[in-house]
Amino acid sequence: PVVLENLGKRFGDGAPVLDDVNATIAKGEFVALLGASGCGKSTLLNIMAGLEKPTSGALEVPSDGAAFMFQDASLFPWLTARGNIELALQLADKSSTKASRRERANELLELVHLGGAGDKRPHELSGGMRQRVALARSLAQDRQLLLMDEPFAALDAITRDLLHDELERIWKETGRTIVFVTHNVREAVRLGQRVLLLSSRPGRVVAEWDVTEEHRTDAGRAGELTGVI
Ligand code: ATP
Ligand code: MG
Repeated sequence: PVVLENLGKRFGDGAPVLDDVNATIAKGEFVALLGASGCGKSTLLNIMAGLEKPTSGALEVPSDGAAFMFQDASLFPWLTARGNIELALQLADKSSTKASRRERANELLELVHLGGAGDKRPHELSGGMRQRVALARSLAQDRQLLLMDEPFAALDAITRDLLHDELERIWKETGRTIVFVTHNVREAVRLGQRVLLLSSRPGRVVAEWDVTEEHRTDAGRAGELTGVI
């Protein structure tokens, strides 16, 4: 599980970005972290990833750490799609063999429906395909916790819809715990079992709700929730 307790963060002597953030995320849960631009979502995710230190409070994360997926795919341009995944596999398990990494990379490519694109380099792939490779690469790290920072924000709506379906399927198949950051209400209710709403100045979890089918289908309701941010 992930436990955040009275977390606070300020940069230098500036005003606090996060103040008294509390949340508990169960193993296998899919949580959407929703908030306006600049409210501290990335800062909070970076703290969960161990990339930033909180100024106050305590946190508990799985002992094997977290896999992280960034907003831009940030793939190595000189490696193929498969090569990017193989590198992550090698870093995750230095004693693995080349043949086993190739086999696992091919499985992961299949999982994100890129079975035919393993030999392509990032510039030969579409934006949506690159995000699929990035997703496969974050799964290659084989961590229970997957932290995703607006991974689909740069994609067109059709590709994003497709990837939402894929991500949901992969979450169910792999049993990962996922924290998905977004500033988009519809995306939050589409994906999250639970939505945590982060306020601005300071960032704090000011509301949370369990997502129902009604939230997902009732666009008006989702729109209303936007007013809360
Ligand atoms: P967005 O949706 O635009 O990505 P966000 O919710 O992820 O926004 P953060 O990137 O966490 O927001 O930033 C929250 C606040 O913290 C902003 O005011 C930002 O300027 C500030 N901030 C973030 N990182 C640093 C840093 N390294 N040094 C100083 N201030 C920072
Ligand atoms: Mg951000």
